[in-house]
Amino acid sequence: MPTRPQFELPSYKEQDPAVAERLKRIYARPLVLDVRRLGKTFTTRSGDIDALRDVSFQVHRREFVTVIGPSGCGKSTLIRILAGLENPTTGHVQLDGKEACGPGADRGMVFQAYTLFPWLTVKRNVMFGLLNKGRGHSQAEADAWQWIRMVGLEKFAECYPHQLSGGMKQRVAIARALANQPRILLMDEPFGALDAQTRMNMQSCLQQIWQNVNITIVFITHDLDEAILLADRIIVLAAHPGRIAEVIEVPLIRPSAFDSPPHRRADGRSGFSGDASTLE
Ligand code: ADP
Ligand code: MG
Repeated sequence: MPTRPQFELPSYKEQDPAVAERLKRIYARPLVLDVRRLGKTFTTRSGDIDALRDVSFQVHRREFVTVIGPSGCGKSTLIRILAGLENPTTGHVQLDGKEACGPGADRGMVFQAYTLFPWLTVKRNVMFGLLNKGRGHSQAEADAWQWIRMVGLEKFAECYPHQLSGGMKQRVAIARALANQPRILLMDEPFGALDAQTRMNMQSCLQQIWQNVNITIVFITHDLDEAILLADRIIVLAAHPGRIAEVIEVPLIRPSAFDSPPHRRADGRSGFSGDASTLE
């Protein structure tokens, strides 16, 4: 009987020294997010649903963590708890060492469903949070421009959401979330509704943003390719109850955020207000 050819594939657990070095640098950074023994039980008429059980992990400054798992394993529940939109049944979440309760401007959210205000232009959508925080109109407008440029939508600043494609709407959602200068960006399958080509464009747009901006990202996906492409680490969830099955350190050699110098403006200042002072 013919035998199958045997391939010697390297295990993802065997790390290249360059990858190990990059991860060591990430783990040396301060913790942004500390998730401890999170549990969530939904009580329904047909019984209790253990959406999450004993979920613990930590995310370091400027780390990109993706969370992957099958439908119904608690990904959205997890990110909603991190965002303060849902209370955990057990356990707790710390952001920068402080208990995070309720939603706050320190956490930016981008959802799969388009959540722009349909009655506001792109520019006004991005300015919305800044004006709410009490920023003067001209400062809010200048800041909004910076983010609109970063996501490549200068020509569409005066358009309304219904005039934009799905990818463009998600660019605005990212710009709007980042304009508020959150400590962490939480993304729940943000590219899940996009076609394959747009999705690839958005992945590279997000990578560029992450390399230029001082931001920590937790990104939910059910697409393994996307998880590997984007992340420093992948948290794999299993379902019923939703729990951590494995944490994978992505063994790819690639530039990590801020391994190269951050984007600089022509005037020599950091392109993004607030980030230059907080780099390590
Ligand atoms: P995922 O995002 O991974 O698809 P979810 O976090 O949306 O999973 O859901 C995890 C589990 O919790 C599912 O079994 C879902 O039916 C249940 N669930 C989520 N939200 C609620 C809710 N508000 N009430 C009852 N059950 C819920
Ligand atoms: Mg979900």
